[in-house]
Amino acid sequence: MKICIFWHRRDLRIHDNVGLAAALASGLPVLPLFIYDQEILDHLPDKADARLTFIYDEVEKLAQETEVAGGTFLACYGRPLEVLAQVVQDFDVAAVHTNEDYEPYATRRDAAVAQMLSQHGVEFYAYKDQVIFAKDEIMTKSGTVPKVFGAYLKAYTTKLTADLLEPCDSKKHFTKTHLHHATREKAGPRPTLESMGFARREQYFPPVKLPAEGLVRNYHKTRDTPADEQGSTRESLNLRFGTLSVREVMRQARELNPKLLAEIIWRDFFMMLLWHFPNTATESYDPKMRCVPYRNDEDEFRAWCEGRTGYPLVDAGMRELNETGYLPNRVRMTVAGFLVKHLFIDWRWGERYFADKLLDYDQANNVGNWQWMAGTGAISAPWFRVYSPDNQQAQVDPEMKYIKRWVPEVGTTKYPKPIVEHKFARERAVEAIRAARLAAG
Ligand SMILES: Cc1cc2nc3c(=O)[nH]c(=O)nc-3n(C[C@H](O)[C@H](O)[C@H](O)COP(=O)(O)OP(=O)(O)OC[C@H]3O[C@@H](n4cnc5c(N)ncnc54)[C@H](O)[C@@H]3O)c2cc1C
Repeated sequence: MKICIFWHRRDLRIHDNVGLAAALASGLPVLPLFIYDQEILDHLPDKADARLTFIYDEVEKLAQETEVAGGTFLACYGRPLEVLAQVVQDFDVAAVHTNEDYEPYATRRDAAVAQMLSQHGVEFYAYKDQVIFAKDEIMTKSGTVPKVFGAYLKAYTTKLTADLLEPCDSKKHFTKTHLHHATREKAGPRPTLESMGFARREQYFPPVKLPAEGLVRNYHKTRDTPADEQGSTRESLNLRFGTLSVREVMRQARELNPKLLAEIIWRDFFMMLLWHFPNTATESYDPKMRCVPYRNDEDEFRAWCEGRTGYPLVDAGMRELNETGYLPNRVRMTVAGFLVKHLFIDWRWGERYFADKLLDYDQANNVGNWQWMAGTGAISAPWFRVYSPDNQQAQVDPEMKYIKRWVPEVGTTKYPKPIVEHKFARERAVEAIRAARLAAG
């Protein structure tokens, strides 16, 4: 019997899943699949990676939900191209459905997969699911890629009608009638963390649910208070892996708080930019910023990573990141600005470090924000802007509640002296960047 595959990637949920709904409506029994991608796992920094633990638990939940509904869930470990080539040998597959992913690696992978499948006579369909507007759906009036967020936001919110945020009915049709049931022998055992060479990492993960209504209503007042763990939504991890759907998150924000809606729209914006300019994953968008003579001092980089710079807000942030995999937005901005301007270290070093540590690591958001802070991006803070970490601290943590939580020795002799003086560092960075830009013409 012909079947179709639904390939889960950044959409670890059954409800409101556009690609899954399309597969279920195709008339062919659906076999859901998740591939633990060896290309990605080989580069994980730690054998006990918290993100892999999160993914593993969510995939196991999907498998259980599929079995309860009367279907079989396929989970495999390997390179997607090879795994899918094997799956189409093992099953009589007419089509593979999935949701689009806009990162450079993912677009290359999907192109190769589509080509391989077509050689086997299998259709490949990818749907827009993780954003509301993708690729070139929002362009400037003159047809160019938007690089001013204000104008993009205006065009976006004008185009954003309620029907675009309606949930799709994937869950309703996720029943025995629409699912393929393979024997366990045929589906094979699902990989475990141990069988893939990994171990479990016990870490706090924000729950898979929408933030409380009160938090969302007050978001614009509380979002820049790092000491307040309820100050922002903490939905980034669930958006990253699609355990929450962007439509449900946006519906809530649209109804309750326009500031929050605008922040979520940054996510679509950066995904759109990375899709248009995939080279910016690893190089500065602005050609004039590609020859900046960063100092890249390894000892200073280590001091930043370990939270030993002598700037309390920077150190508190880095220690929170190392311990929890999370960092509030304003503190992300402070530590990033400090690395690229005060220590004058290449933004790519910081971007990589965040990639290793952040639970919500998302290449488009991370690269976009790092380039913003470094003044190198398609959209950026001015390259000569250097935020004072002490002023930031006075604004966001005046009573030092956040700092004392993470840097208890602050104010004692055990706490290091500042690694560099603010005014000196600012002038050093601004002069060096100015000269590099002049030389670049
Ligand atoms: C240097 C730097 C690196 C960053 N790296 C990442 C990353 O890898 N992954 C990531 O999801 N976010 C990243 N951000 C953006 C932002 O800091 C986080 O999304 C946010 O702190 C997550 O917490 P929250 O869910 O409580 O956010 P909230 O403030 O509650 O915002 C709600 C949602 O809006 C989106 N959002 C908010 N701010 C931004 C922003 N500036 N850019 C893009 N999307 C945004 C996120 O999806 C977030 O979950 C980075 C910011 C900086 C300055």
